[in-house]
Amino acid sequence: MSNAILTSSQYQNYRKIDLIVVHCSATRCNRPFALEAVIACHKARGFATIGYHYYVTRDGVVHAGRPLYQEGAHATGFNRRSIGVCYEGGLSPEGKPMDTRTLLQKETLRKLLSRLKTDYPEAVILGHRDLPGVRKECPCFDAAVEYHWIGSQYQREM
Ligand SMILES: [Zn+2]
Repeated sequence: MSNAILTSSQYQNYRKIDLIVVHCSATRCNRPFALEAVIACHKARGFATIGYHYYVTRDGVVHAGRPLYQEGAHATGFNRRSIGVCYEGGLSPEGKPMDTRTLLQKETLRKLLSRLKTDYPEAVILGHRDLPGVRKECPCFDAAVEYHWIGSQYQREM
């Protein structure tokens, strides 16, 4: 899957989407955790396949996970009306929670979230840890603050 996914809107109104939830893979930034590893990990947890809709590796490539029309498996209690976006990393080489996003990941996440917000203007972008009952640091940075402006740019331009 290539970054062509970022350039075209693939809007399909199969589900009502309230939330766009950002995750990290909670893996060490110096240890590659490829898409195939995520799929294997989630299958081992009993999921049919990867639980996220998108996975952004450290090279900035966005990989398609579940199709958007399918409910994800990434945020207990919130899967039905959300989209799950995950990036590779989130832990320092020592295994401590840290914002390990590469510049390429930051760029790709910004583009991907902007496109999703265009397709689902009413959806709120937040981090997994911002959901009630979540007690881990996922995604290791404040996604709600960093991405709160996404969408407003379009309103200003109109
Ligand atoms: Zn998470």
